[in-house]
Amino acid sequence: MSTHSPPVRRLSDWDHDRLERLAETHGTPLYVLDVGRVQANYQRFANAFPDAHVMYAAKAHTGRAVLSALLEMGADIECAAAGELQRAIDAGADPNTLQYTAVNPPDGDLDYVVEIAEESPGLTITGGAGDTFDRLEERGYDGRVAIRINPGIGTGHHEKVATGRDAKFGIPYDDVPALADALRGRFDLVGLHAHMGSGVLQDDLDDHCRAIGKVADLARDIGDEDLAFVDFGGGFGVPYREDVAPLDMQAVGEKVRDAIGDLAAQTKLEPGRYVVADAECLLTEVNTVKQTPAAAVVGVDASLATLLRPAMFDSHHPIRNISAPDRKARPVSVGGPCCTSADVFATDRPVARPEREELLAIGNAGAYGYELANQFHSQPRPAEVAIEDGETRVVRRRETMTDVVRVEDEASE
Ligand SMILES: *Cc1c(COP(=O)(O)O)cnc(C)c1O
Repeated sequence: MSTHSPPVRRLSDWDHDRLERLAETHGTPLYVLDVGRVQANYQRFANAFPDAHVMYAAKAHTGRAVLSALLEMGADIECAAAGELQRAIDAGADPNTLQYTAVNPPDGDLDYVVEIAEESPGLTITGGAGDTFDRLEERGYDGRVAIRINPGIGTGHHEKVATGRDAKFGIPYDDVPALADALRGRFDLVGLHAHMGSGVLQDDLDDHCRAIGKVADLARDIGDEDLAFVDFGGGFGVPYREDVAPLDMQAVGEKVRDAIGDLAAQTKLEPGRYVVADAECLLTEVNTVKQTPAAAVVGVDASLATLLRPAMFDSHHPIRNISAPDRKARPVSVGGPCCTSADVFATDRPVARPEREELLAIGNAGAYGYELANQFHSQPRPAEVAIEDGETRVVRRRETMTDVVRVEDEASE
């Protein structure tokens, strides 16, 4: 395993000939996942935190190819839904090593996790509301729990991901000591947990570390020597803009350790995005080039149904003309076939002047990319191919219209 992988992968670093061949073979839109890069990213992160227990937050990309590759390296997995637990177990995870973070958990999710925990008492359930613990108790559960804290500080690239100050997430900071006392008689209280936000880069790092420090302080207040772990969540970012520097993980590791200070309990971290973001790109074909007085419009076959982040989080994703990367760039707006103005990947973005039938790559599509794909406009979801040890294989076949209408067909059978 390479431990000296570059800290960021730009679109220009992908093998363009290979991407073109993949698009020819499998059609577009197409997600292309580099499994080796997933492993290198995880390894770089783990190397920066040698004393910590690093879990991969599955929701960033729950594909089996990703989960298996990380499990193979000995990574543990953090899940935020019953379905994610099920997929982690299917991929080979020992349920005793799993951590389940419940956010307003549906009854069925709690039923499932309690059932799994009966056989696998090592599983840990994190709750962020008194109700969640009551509902676990009603199900006869008295095993390992952690309290999710709301540190009152949210961080990250967008308001919609700054969970650390959103009342939806976690127990109010000042209420945690009393809850910890109350839970100790009812469960095996093993940890404290917080997750502040997502997409944290250098600018946000001070705030992020301030929140981490608050969580560590609280752990010391309630007795860190009585806890097995304190989990500081994920949130570490990758640069989506090509002119922004990546995090220096060794320096981040030091800064985070300083923020934590002395702690008797084990430090846990749960990166999601950092592990998968730059390990995948999305290939899309140009089908329309239109000059208007307002803009040069480039239409492509991917849409917000394929990659939702720009529409949902105003996310910037790099775009590169893979067919003709050296052509003179000009500002274009790139959008898909959906009937909403939100279906744009870029506005006034310099791209090597695309022509019809050329192939564009959209970068950093690995985190919350396929994961948020949907069938809006009756669009079958795209295929995903994985590159692993020089070989490529389809890890998700392209959906067909049969998949799109299947639940209707089966309902009327
Ligand atoms: C989403 C999430 C993560 C991962 O966040 P990233 O920003 O992708 O690193 C970690 N922990 C919890 C509880 C989460 O909900």
